[in-house]
Amino acid sequence: MSEDIARRPDKLTSAGLDELSVLPVFFKLAGKSVVIAGGSDAAAWKAELLAASGAQTYVFATNVSDKLKELTRRTGLVHIEHRQLQVRDFEGAALAIGDFETVEEIDAFRQMARKAGVICNIIDKPKQSDFQFGSLIERSPLVIAISTDGAAPVFGQALRIWIETLLPDGLRHWAKAAKSWRPKITALNLDFHARRKVWEIFARRALSHPEKKPDESDLEAMLAGLHQSNADKNTTHVALVGAGPGDPELLTLKAVRALQSADVVLFDDLVAPGVINMARREAQRISVGKRGYKPSCTQEDIISLLIEHAQAGRRIVRLKGGDPLIFGRAGEEIEALHRAGIPVEIIPGVTSASAAAASLKRSLTERETARRVQMITAHARNGQLPDDLDWRALADPKATTIVYMGVRTLQALANRLCAEGLDPNTPAIIIERASWPNERHLTSTISKLPQAAEAAAIQAPALVIIGQALRDHKSEL
Ligand code: SAH
Repeated sequence: MSEDIARRPDKLTSAGLDELSVLPVFFKLAGKSVVIAGGSDAAAWKAELLAASGAQTYVFATNVSDKLKELTRRTGLVHIEHRQLQVRDFEGAALAIGDFETVEEIDAFRQMARKAGVICNIIDKPKQSDFQFGSLIERSPLVIAISTDGAAPVFGQALRIWIETLLPDGLRHWAKAAKSWRPKITALNLDFHARRKVWEIFARRALSHPEKKPDESDLEAMLAGLHQSNADKNTTHVALVGAGPGDPELLTLKAVRALQSADVVLFDDLVAPGVINMARREAQRISVGKRGYKPSCTQEDIISLLIEHAQAGRRIVRLKGGDPLIFGRAGEEIEALHRAGIPVEIIPGVTSASAAAASLKRSLTERETARRVQMITAHARNGQLPDDLDWRALADPKATTIVYMGVRTLQALANRLCAEGLDPNTPAIIIERASWPNERHLTSTISKLPQAAEAAAIQAPALVIIGQALRDHKSEL
């Protein structure tokens, strides 16, 4: 291949490389042969892996497990020799694998392999092995392998599952498409920069639409992108992404993927640093905090920023605390982007009410006592308690009311609710920073909660939850 971009010297990465415990390499085994000594299930797993890589796999064993027998029936690549492995069997083998218990067996095997010049792996004995198998993430032709150099294989497997969940399965189709388009792109005889640009556009498209099956239109767009001053300009959109209540573990997979492919991330004050850290390292991070009573970015500033970056062809993630569609003024941003002709994608998030209920381990609904959940904000444009709330609904003894932005007006809200007929002894909880490490909550009744909250100096962000669904909850503050 003439255009191996990765082979160009890169001072930044080569100079800073720390000591490697093992070198990951990717073997092409199609058409080669490998030998395995041992007929156990563990040997069968390795045989399956090697056969999947296209190797002619010769298993030497006097006792053969059912799994191995089944494997020979299923694939034409696994061959069983019912005898002990000998020196001559190593001849021409690319790799050798042994499954042994005793030191003597291992030594004898290693000596034979060495004599034949074949590198070997002893199953579950990393110290005695020339090479090890990693935990695999397979999106062939895209393959990822994880090694802990034998330190903690179970940890490696856990990481594998973690990466598996983050990596859309559809990437295999993009990797396959890259393989089939590569000759066509090579044939164009583009210079280094142009080739690089084409593959950059490819990577952007794959990462922003991983579940789409790539087709010829993507190839055309890649080539068309060459003639645009800003690659992929037409495909940009703004993702309004729910950042959840604080704990980064509560992000959706979609949110993480969007963050991982963003060029620019605009975030509110409420978004936890751990969530912003999930963004691609190179992404530009812009705080557009709208703080209740402190100096802040205006909604107009935010909208102009979104439009500016979108028109420059950058992938934008607009992170909003909790769910973007609950008290997030998302409607204004959606409308403005719509008017500017910029497509919007919405990725929902866990709203703080859900996180609060989870922390309190309380169901917000109950068959007899809490038939309805209502979410309100206790903060009007002028900073006061809104006057146009449906007070009858809020005084309903069979409803659970969740109050967003309600710290400052809590006393006024409690007074008004009681005046509208809500029982002053109705259970009420205030929860500050639900799902953050420094979360606290306070349990009381609606008439007593305002004073208790003030005494405990509860600060925003905090939610007030009111209703019979909360009764009998013990204070843990
Ligand atoms: N879209 C957000 C709400 C934004 S309004 C969501 O779905 O949660 C901002 C208000 O949300 C805060 O004043 C507070 O009342 C509430 N809030 C946000 N995060 C919170 C958290 N971690 N704990 C408690 N309340 C929170």
